[in-house]
Amino acid sequence: MPIATTNPATGQVLKTYDPMSAEQIDAAIERADLAYRQLGRTTLDQRAGWMNAAADLLDAERDEIARIMTTEMGKTYASAKAEVTKCATAARFYAAHAAEFLADEPADAAAVSAARAFVRYQPIGPVLAVMPWNFPLWQVMRFAAPALMAGNTGLLKHASNVPQTALLLEDLFRRAGFPEGAFTTLLVGSEAVDQILSDPRVRAATLTGSEGAGRSIAQIAGRELKKTVLELGGSDPFVVMPSADLDKAAEVATTARCQNNGQSCIAAKRFIVHADVFDAFAEKFAANMAALRVGDPMDEQTDVGPLASERGRDEVHAQVRDAVEKGATVLVGGEPPAGDGWWYPPTVVTGLTPEMRMWHEEVFGPVAGLFRVSSYDEAIEVANGTTFGLGSNAWTRDEDEQARFATDLDAGNVFINGMTTSFPELPFGGVKNSGYGRELSALGMREFCNTKTVWVG
Ligand code: NDP
Repeated sequence: MPIATTNPATGQVLKTYDPMSAEQIDAAIERADLAYRQLGRTTLDQRAGWMNAAADLLDAERDEIARIMTTEMGKTYASAKAEVTKCATAARFYAAHAAEFLADEPADAAAVSAARAFVRYQPIGPVLAVMPWNFPLWQVMRFAAPALMAGNTGLLKHASNVPQTALLLEDLFRRAGFPEGAFTTLLVGSEAVDQILSDPRVRAATLTGSEGAGRSIAQIAGRELKKTVLELGGSDPFVVMPSADLDKAAEVATTARCQNNGQSCIAAKRFIVHADVFDAFAEKFAANMAALRVGDPMDEQTDVGPLASERGRDEVHAQVRDAVEKGATVLVGGEPPAGDGWWYPPTVVTGLTPEMRMWHEEVFGPVAGLFRVSSYDEAIEVANGTTFGLGSNAWTRDEDEQARFATDLDAGNVFINGMTTSFPELPFGGVKNSGYGRELSALGMREFCNTKTVWVG
């Protein structure tokens, strides 16, 4: 894939970049390694000062950063601005909480025959971050803020379609005060990942992206005995039970499916509705989906902009076509408009069966699958019946049912009566083919720390 900014609303290539050479990559890794040693001589207070300065820059430059994101990958300008603000919040969160998350943890010294015993969290070195285009600032910030505060350095290999966002992130941390090399953007294609991750100076990797990319990075990391955190795809269930507030559920379902133009790993994708309320929910949901305004992502009135790439748009349409050819019914949408840009209308498909791609696959666009079930057990069976396990949603006012969903949904996140989202305060990650490891909270910070046992006799 060429490294280029191509506006998804027009299909026009605006800027292209030459990939870095092997020698340039080597020099960048060397700088990251030197910066790691330099960061080791800084205090948490110093790093917190730089992280807060990065947050201030994000706030001050929000509109311009948001414009670049919208131009590169098509998310609405309103959601891009919200993403910048969310990144500033996360930067401040880690600046404020790093001391607490990294503090020594005393253990019961007598039980281990010691005078003193404790656990200490220490940085491990340069970490490679392979990141996707869908939340081009947030996905990076949720790695970078805890990593830099812990004293690690970051090497970013961003998706090839968001090079300007990638470069502005390097610039942001440099201007905030972090030492040269503390956070470096490598303008490279995915074929360079082997060289980078094989380098002994690079200690670990984190990836957010597809299952295929996850398998490839995990293979290299396995060969090199390096730690990875993988945040891969999802096909999140959104279960609606008879006691649910249907108006609210249908409203949130619409946002949960179409936020970020339908391109979110934790978007609700499979809507599993109890037969008692299926028709009522389907009617409300379909009406909401049909009412969304599709158009210019820079227009504040727009709800859904274009998909990020032509390939992505064609893939979504192929999944819908496959379902229709095998007997599914389209309630809303289903046909991409003619003309420039990679648009796809909000779409609702019902009558899905296991032979259809939409039954098993993640759909990375504003397309919802509706499933009718007749009991709690059947809802759980369909909800858990995929290879994914990232987020999940259940709508019920029955407290016993809420408790059962929290246990029975096989996913890294369970949201009851609300939409799956990420907070700096809560761990984020998946089970099964949605990946492993956790981002955010104290856990996300400690993923790339040496959890060191110290025993003093
Ligand atoms: P990819 O997984 O291809 O891209 C994500 C990142 O991984 C990019 O930086 C990409 O680089 C890199 N990458 C891709 N293949 C490899 C590889 N073999 N080795 C190392 N790095 C690699 O996602 P796509 O953009 O192609 O989207 C395809 C699907 O991925 C989506 O339909 C969705 O299912 C899933 N996805 C999930 C996301 C999530 O949030 N969990 C985010 C984005 C996608 P480059 O751009 O240079 O190829």
